[in-house]
This record gives sequence, structure tokens and C-alpha cells, in this order.
Amino acid sequence: MSVSLSRTPFTATVLGLPRVGPNRELKRATESYWAGRVDAEHLHAVGAELRRAQFAELAAAGLDSVPVGTFSYYDQVLDTAVLLGALPPRVAGIADPLDRYFAAARGTDTVAPLEMTKWFDTNYHYLVPEIDAATTFSLHPEKLLADLAEAIEFGVPARPVVIGPITFLKLAKAADGAAVDRLPELLPLYADLLGQLAAAGAQWVQIDEPALVTDLTDAEIALVRETYTTLAAVAQRPAILVATYFGHPDAALAALADTDIDGVALDVTAGTGVDAVAAVPALARKLLVAGVVDGRNIWRTDLDAALRTLGTLLGSAGAVAVSSSSSLLHVPYSLAPETGLDERLRSWLSFGAEKVAEVRVLATALTEGTDAVAAELTAARAAAESRRTDPRLHDERVRARLAALDESDLNRLPADERRVLQRDHLDLPVLPTTTIGSYPQTSAIRLARAALRKGEIDQAEYVRRMRAEIAEVITLQERLGLDVLVHGEPERNDMVQYFAELLDGFAATDNGWVQSYGTRCVRPPILFGDVSRPEPMTLSWIGYAQSLTAKPVKGMLTGPVTILAWSFVRDDQPLGDSARQVALAIRDETVDLEAQGARVIQVDEPALRELLPLRAADQPAYLRWSVDAFRLATAGVADTTQVHTHLCYSEFGEVISAIAGLDADVTSIEAARSHMEVLDDLNAAGFALGVGPGVYDIHSPRVPSVEEITTSLASALKAVPAERLWVNPDCGLKTRGPVEVEASLRNLVTAAQSLR
Ligand code: GLN
Ligand code: ZN
Repeated sequence: MSVSLSRTPFTATVLGLPRVGPNRELKRATESYWAGRVDAEHLHAVGAELRRAQFAELAAAGLDSVPVGTFSYYDQVLDTAVLLGALPPRVAGIADPLDRYFAAARGTDTVAPLEMTKWFDTNYHYLVPEIDAATTFSLHPEKLLADLAEAIEFGVPARPVVIGPITFLKLAKAADGAAVDRLPELLPLYADLLGQLAAAGAQWVQIDEPALVTDLTDAEIALVRETYTTLAAVAQRPAILVATYFGHPDAALAALADTDIDGVALDVTAGTGVDAVAAVPALARKLLVAGVVDGRNIWRTDLDAALRTLGTLLGSAGAVAVSSSSSLLHVPYSLAPETGLDERLRSWLSFGAEKVAEVRVLATALTEGTDAVAAELTAARAAAESRRTDPRLHDERVRARLAALDESDLNRLPADERRVLQRDHLDLPVLPTTTIGSYPQTSAIRLARAALRKGEIDQAEYVRRMRAEIAEVITLQERLGLDVLVHGEPERNDMVQYFAELLDGFAATDNGWVQSYGTRCVRPPILFGDVSRPEPMTLSWIGYAQSLTAKPVKGMLTGPVTILAWSFVRDDQPLGDSARQVALAIRDETVDLEAQGARVIQVDEPALRELLPLRAADQPAYLRWSVDAFRLATAGVADTTQVHTHLCYSEFGEVISAIAGLDADVTSIEAARSHMEVLDDLNAAGFALGVGPGVYDIHSPRVPSVEEITTSLASALKAVPAERLWVNPDCGLKTRGPVEVEASLRNLVTAAQSLR
């Protein structure tokens, strides 16, 4: 069947590998290196040992092609910038390559780091390459060649992986013109690289082009065709696999297939189905790497469905290999340590190691027939049946409550009428001051949490310590003269995990770490069932804080969209349905908070923009359900109760009209770094509610002066009338130190008071 292929295909692979280590070994080694406790040699040794162990496992699992070079000390996009000689000139003076690399990633006392932003619609963050007229690209393949040589020495069937030129340039920030205009400069470098990889023994190379699943112009599609025509024409090269993932490459697929590349990877789990493949006849001469095992969610694969898909694909492609849909970077290493999950739930899951096994089973079924894997297929069917019939996935009470809701449950009185009511109810000065929610997570807080986990203190002692923290934060805010207070969130390990642990329908893992960026890892909760709130989640903390002051204390909750965005979500119902269930639980909490006396309630939605679909055509539907979910969560309270929200960014782009749609009485946003331009954007979108543009940047330890804050406020007042303007920092204060927080807030209050 592979007769029409010019290169020997492989049958079973994954597109990339996690790298922080099964127990976050790389995180610890890297942070020790930064702190000067270990040297570079130690760090490299830890990296090499992790790779060795990983390759040994993959070889034992029976993959016949293994991705190499997806290991990284910080980020794969930064690695690509190094590969292409595109580090910014400001780090060029740092002689040591490792320190130069980390300087670009994290900055130093004198050098600003590269910006960080989200990798497509995942929760991984990459470093944004900077390109300007002074950038002269040059090839530095040492790391990739070393990784390849090492893997070959280990005896694994190595397939080097690089980020492709189109994706690299689309992700880069160009100081002048469009970054993609620089493509002609990159192609000779990639051609050179292909030659070097072939000489070093690579049979296949994987070129990642996830940018092809975003909306491309016709001119960009033409660039895809030209780029891969050029690279396929390199005389001595490995077989080229172009990998797309996170969506459907659409017109780019036909463009790729028209070139002489040898294979294409498609994300079947994200909707590139059999029809798309059948519609491109040129794929009959290529290896199709079919991503049927979801690389970014944690559910066990429906092997029967995957086999049906693979069978159909076999009719349209030159050959088919089984693969994960994306790199396994986005899922935890293995289910093995998760002994705390109930057996039933555990049987529905598949983490990194289990996904590799699924790939192998499917590939065996394709080559040897299903009888060869009968036991595995039976087990997968039993797990699917157990999941389908589990009562926790079908809570009739939750479903009936949602079915009984109508449009009126999403609406409050018009905003200007609410403003009048709330003015009387709250009696705040003009330009009211507030903070976003969290205060510094001190070592006392972290120690108390660790002690509780280890059983060294009991719940009562933990509560006592948290209350002491709350009392201190309330005293501080009263002393500073802030107007709307917060309890400081000491009890929240994380703004999503905290709620997930208290809601039915969610489960937590013990060791399910996933890299978020650099050495930062998160442990996303698993949303597996219908969601409801067995009992109040924040009432005692907020009630205690309110008991200490006559000023209003904000009830503080995380919104439904953000809870979904930072969890592994169900794949057996639309995301919007899960959002409504979470929203209903949050709504229950807002109603209870109000009944307990809360006059202001904040529901944070920092991830509203993160979940925005990659394709413009899919965005309106998303914005509809996400805005409705927020409104469902917040419209249950009286019109006298003031609803706040917080969004963590200021470049609203496609979501700007959605922000007005949230209908929150007050929205706090980031603005300090964008100099208030965001207010003009909001005005242009017809936003007429309360707004708190952050008047200083909490991401820096610097204490802003009264003058600086006054200037910020004065420029805000040019765009927003005083009766709508709030005064606050641009995000929560949990990562800051207590001394700078007090100094900064004192200046903030002084500036607001002097302007009044
Ligand atoms: N209330 C949260 C805090 O202050 C909001 C954080 C966020 O939006 N990322 O920490
Ligand atoms: Zn924020």
C-alpha cells in the first residue's frame, strides 16, 4: 500500500513530548540553577537523564518513530529563535549561551525578557520572538543535532522536530512590516538544516506548522505552497512531515499536498475528518499521520471510533500512521501515580504514557487486525460504557434547573438604573478605590497550607491562621483608606483549583502537572460530570472579613469561562453546556453571598479571551455562550448589588463587544502598560459601564509615585466621566511583597483623594 510513497513510512508516533519530568525534576534543577545552587553541568545532566528515561520508555512502548528535539530548557519557540539566530540584540552581550537563553526568557536586572503569550488556544505560553530591520538570521543547529545524535545513540528511531518558518514568523512580533515578509531569508536556513539533519542520520523530519489551522489569506496560502515546494526540492534531505494541530488546515492542506513533501499530520480530534482528506487527492501519495488520540485532553480514546476513522483514511492516503493529535506537552506524564482517583473515573482517563499505549494498540490493529488487540479493545469498550452510564454525568436535578431558566434569568435592570440604585445602597465617594482580590501570598500562608496537607495542623487551626491573614488585610485596607475592601484570598491555592475542589463534577489529581511556561507548572482539575455546588464555598471567609469592617467587602469568585479554560473539560457534551452548569453553581454562591450581606460581588473572567476559537467563523458562537454563562452566573442578585468583573489584559481585540455584553457594573482591566488607550477602544465599542483601568502595573516590584498615578487617572478622565471611573491596580497582588504593596496602595489612595 506504500508503493506510491518515495520514503518508508512509519506506523506509530506522537507529535511531541512533555519535558518537565514525571516529578518536575527539570523545574527543580532549573530553578536551582537560577538560584546559583547548582551549575550548568548539573542542569544538563538532569536534562539528559530525563531524555534517556523518556526515550527508553517510548522505545519499550513500541513507537517506530520518536520525536526528538521537543525537549527544551524553557520554550520551544525560544529554541527556534536560537536555531535561527533571532535572539534580540539586547542579550547578545551575554557570553554564556545558557545564561543568554535564560536572559531572553526571564530578563535580568538590566535586560527585559521577551514577551510571553498563549500558544494557540492552549494553556501553554511561549516567548514571542522579536524581529526588526537589524535581525540577520543565521543557522545554529547545535542543540537539535546534539539531541539527534544522542537519540540515535540510545537506539531510538529518531525524528527531529522543528517549528516551521511560517509558524515561527506568524508568532513573531515584527517592529516594522509583517514578519512573514522575512520568509525568503529563512528558507535557505531551513534548507541547510534539512541537509545537516540528513547527514546526521535523520530519516524523517517533522516541521510543525500549527499556524496553518488559523485563518490565512490567499497570499499566505500561496506562501505555504512556495515554502514547501522549495524545501521539498532540497537534494539531500530527510523525508518531510509537516505537522498541523489544534484545528483544521483547510485550504492550506491542499497547498501542502501539492508539494513534494512526504507526509502531513492532521488533528483528527479537532475536526479534520475523513472528508477533508478525501477531498485532497494528492494525499494518496503521502503518509498521513492521523492524530486520533487527543494530545491535549485526558480522556481515554474511543478505540472503535478511532479505528473506523483510520480505516476510512487508509482509502484516501498513501499510508496512515497513528499519532497523538498534538504534542503530549499538554497532558500529564502518566496515570500511574494517580492512586487517589476513584477506580471508575480513573478507567476513563488517559495521560501521556497511556496515550502512547493507545497509539501502539491502534497501529497494531491497523497492521495485524483487531484480533491482535482484542483485550485492549474490550477494556476500552468497558471503560466507555462505564463512563456513559455513570450517574455523576447525568444529574437530573442540575439539568432540570437549567432547563427551567429563560432569558429573564440572564438580565438585570438597565445599567443606568442599577447605577442609581447602587449609589444609594453603597454610598461610595467619586473615584472609588479598590483592589483586584488577592494580597501577597506570604510564606506563613504557604506554610499553613503545606502543614494542613501533611496533617501537621488540623482544619480548625488552618482556618484560624487564614482568618488572622484576613484580619490583617482588612486592617491594612482600612488604614490606607481604600473604599471597597477584599478579604485577600489567602485560602486560595489557585483561583480555579479552589472552586474545583469544592464543586461536584470535578476531580483533582495528585501529580497531574502540565507545563504552563518555563518552570511554571499547573495541575488542571478534571471536569468529568454534571456540576453543582454541594455547599457554600466562600461564605465563611467573606462573612468573617465583612464582620471586621463597616466598609463593603467584595465577594470574590471565579467565573465559569475561566474555570473551564483552566481545567480539563468533558468531551461528551458541548463546552457551552458545561459552562452553564458551572455558571449555575457560581450563581448559587452569589445569591448566598448577597443574602449574607455582600453588597459588591466580583466574578473574575481573566480567561474570557483565552478560549476564543482560532477561526473567526467559530468565534461568534463562542462569544454568545461565554457571555451568557457570565450573565447566568451574575444576574441572580438584586439590582442594588454591584457586580464587578476582572479581565487580565487590555488588548481586547475580538472580545471587545463581549465585554459590554457581560453587563458587569464595574470591570477592572489592565491599562497601566498600554497608557489608557484601552479606554478609547472601550468607548468606541459603546461600553458605558463602570471601569477600573489599572493605574499601575503589578507585574513589576516598582512602587508607583503619587504623580504617576495622578497622571494615569487624569488621562483616564479624558476618556471616562468621573462617575464611571474606578481606581485600582491592574491585577491581583498575590505575587508581590507586603512592603511594596502597602507603599503602592498608599500612593494610589492619595492620588484618588487629591483628584476628588
Ligand atoms: N481575584 C484574582 C486575584 O486578585 C484575580 C486574578 C486574575 O484575574 N488572574 O488574584
Ligand atoms: Zn488580572
